[in-house]
Amino acid sequence: PDTVRLLSSSQVITSVVNVVKELMENSLDAGASTSFHLTLQENYGLDRIEVRDNGHGIKAEDTRVMAVTHFTSKICSHEDLERLETYGFRGEALGSICAVAEVSVITKTEEDDISTQYTLDFTGEIVSQKPSHLGQGTTVSVLKLFKNLPVRRQYYSSTKKCKEELKKMQDLLMAYAIIKPDLRLTLIHNKVVVWQKAKVADHRSALLATLGASAVANLLPCHHHQEQPEIVLDGFFPKPGADYSSTSSSNPDKTFIFVNNRPVHQKDVTKLLRQHYTAQYRDDPARNRYPTAMLKITVPPSSVDVNLTPDKTQVLLHNKEALLTALEVFLVSLYGYRPN
Ligand code: ADP
Ligand code: MG
Repeated sequence: PDTVRLLSSSQVITSVVNVVKELMENSLDAGASTSFHLTLQENYGLDRIEVRDNGHGIKAEDTRVMAVTHFTSKICSHEDLERLETYGFRGEALGSICAVAEVSVITKTEEDDISTQYTLDFTGEIVSQKPSHLGQGTTVSVLKLFKNLPVRRQYYSSTKKCKEELKKMQDLLMAYAIIKPDLRLTLIHNKVVVWQKAKVADHRSALLATLGASAVANLLPCHHHQEQPEIVLDGFFPKPGADYSSTSSSNPDKTFIFVNNRPVHQKDVTKLLRQHYTAQYRDDPARNRYPTAMLKITVPPSSVDVNLTPDKTQVLLHNKEALLTALEVFLVSLYGYRPN
């Protein structure tokens, strides 16, 4: 059973970024709307990742099962999946991280007088607990990631890979920073603040805080609401004529797409955006890049399947064609390009 546990966990928890994403989403699900700190001790998090939030904490009666595989406090029934509003729902992350690293959790709810630190074992069971001194919220520490998967640990240890992972973490934090304007975020690596963002009022200010003033000056807001099928599009796109593109021609790293507040990869959508945006620059191949843009797609939760991949960054949309058509109508009116 230990081998089975290790194998299935190592499919859920594939990378450093993956751990960060799961812990961060747990914090957001816990209503951590004011602050969220991510600390990577030396070695880009491979030796220690710490995520601290000021959310509602974990109730004492839940701590015993928090890292038990398939325990979740977020859904009770199959129907709940149809109105899903939390990032997590499978109860897989914490338990899986326990199988591939050393995990401890410090938590305090509003009712608790003091916080408690729990040390978890390979199976997610609590092996020891002691009083601690943190305020309300939860801190999860993940030490020696992939210590029992030497090939994977080695793979992520190279300087090149570490830097790539750090960049991905930053991109991920940016995405959450943009979609959750009221969140205060800090990323610390090796005692140095790599990136931070203050609490702001709206998406535009969040884009400003994340991408800088020159970027936002060239972004136009858009809003589109349609019924049957119900789709709401909110976004910011480069003004026609504004050359404001992604840093790389092959990587849509500054095209932020969200489906019901979840950062996702939607190739069809990024492709469509690029096609219309770059049509302005047909004679200038150097400008054939992904635009810097944000698109927030809101659809009824029952029309999305987010359970396609363990990291939930691929989603299936029930009305994909209608969505692309609505987006295209908007892009045609913005950039005046009509694909034949
Ligand atoms: P899921 O997010 O799918 O419910 P996880 O394994 O990620 O599963 O977490 C298990 C449970 O532990 C959650 O349902 C929640 O009750 C609790 N939990 C984990 N992290 C936090 C946190 N930062 N704040 C509050 N509760 C948490
Ligand atoms: Mg979770």
